[in-house]
Amino acid sequence: MDRVRITVFDTTLRDGEQSPGCSMNVQEKLRLAHQLDRLGADVIEAGFPIASEGDFTAVQAIAATIRRPIIAGLARACSQDIERAWQALRGATRPRIHIFLATSDIHLQYKLKISRQRCLEQARDAVRLAKSFCSDVEFSPEDATRTDHEFLYQVLDAVVEAGATTLNIPDTVGYSMPAEFGELIQSIRQRVCGIEKATISAHCHNDLGLAVANSLAALSAGARQVECTINGIGERAGNASLEEIVMAMRVRPDRYPYETGVISEQLFPASQLLSETTGVPVQPNKAVIGRNAFAHEAGIHQDGMLKNPLTYEIMTPQSVGVPDSRLVLGKHSGRHALGLRCEQLGFQFDRRELDEIYRSFVVLADKIKHVQEHHLLELIQQTRSAMGRIPPGHVEATAAAAVSAVGQTFFQKSSPPAQALDLNIRLHPPADHHAEQEDYLWGV
Ligand SMILES: [Zn+2]
Repeated sequence: MDRVRITVFDTTLRDGEQSPGCSMNVQEKLRLAHQLDRLGADVIEAGFPIASEGDFTAVQAIAATIRRPIIAGLARACSQDIERAWQALRGATRPRIHIFLATSDIHLQYKLKISRQRCLEQARDAVRLAKSFCSDVEFSPEDATRTDHEFLYQVLDAVVEAGATTLNIPDTVGYSMPAEFGELIQSIRQRVCGIEKATISAHCHNDLGLAVANSLAALSAGARQVECTINGIGERAGNASLEEIVMAMRVRPDRYPYETGVISEQLFPASQLLSETTGVPVQPNKAVIGRNAFAHEAGIHQDGMLKNPLTYEIMTPQSVGVPDSRLVLGKHSGRHALGLRCEQLGFQFDRRELDEIYRSFVVLADKIKHVQEHHLLELIQQTRSAMGRIPPGHVEATAAAAVSAVGQTFFQKSSPPAQALDLNIRLHPPADHHAEQEDYLWGV
């Protein structure tokens, strides 16, 4: 069965860049745009040309150099903005003018101080003007989710008639709930005249942590474009996260039978580049691309992971471009992971020795958060000396080489999962019932 193709509209360089601490200069934006191109984004919103000289130059530079994706520029619904956006975009292979105008009563009364009638005319005139420059025009009724539905349909009717090719429905303040947002998209499909000529798009903010859920609900209801950002950056609590939306579709095609042009192996590199460029770190437990997204510390998890990664991973780290999953040695780690780490440090132990080391390891791990290589080497030395197996001092000789060969804090499996499993079976006899139980206790 052919899957429905979803247009991925990346607004990292526009909405994302508006978030505190995330502003970028022209060179930085250009570098990121190249990565978004490699990632396979269909549309790159490069900026808001009238906002500043820097924004204008960045949009112009991106339009001139990034040739595959559509390059969009944002404009308010007025001639000055639209003309400026067009000046910046005209060099693009596939330019798009993106116009927005608030439609909710609260925005009309307090921010714009215009009537509904004036709003409707302004939206229509703006789309007509943009259409005279460029065939690809997107319109966003800002604060759509708090707009009176009947009025929203009227505005959308008018802009479709004026030639808008994409109707983007923003949950500007992150207020909507998934079922509700899905119903709104569905009602737009039923109530707006000529809607079949346009693509419906979703643009969700994360104020209640529902941006991705709302975006997915919109796709299920018939939206065919989704607006999102790398790392979910954006105004306030951010926008819908591109990597989460893409991987939700990839991991659960039974629920979301859609495909995108995104090359998922480029997700982690894109996330890293953005974070390095802005200096804004990604939270460690961030879904898909966070430092801990593929880290396993609990003993039961580590044991399962080493036997078969599918026990605890619904997607592989490699599929999103993370070099490999990480097993963190901490107080919840089991004997299995400890044994493998010792192997990586160059030590082979029989069952009795490993038991001994494991006991000391547990005592130490209770005191410190992460047991690092040098701690482990010390433990090995003490234990083996106590057992009369090695003269003190031998461990130090291998320590430097071992520490430089293996990461300082994390244990990274160096082989692909299948080989790691084989290696493990070869080096460790099957754990007896007692050991299994102990691993399970640590995993709870
Ligand atoms: Zn936004």
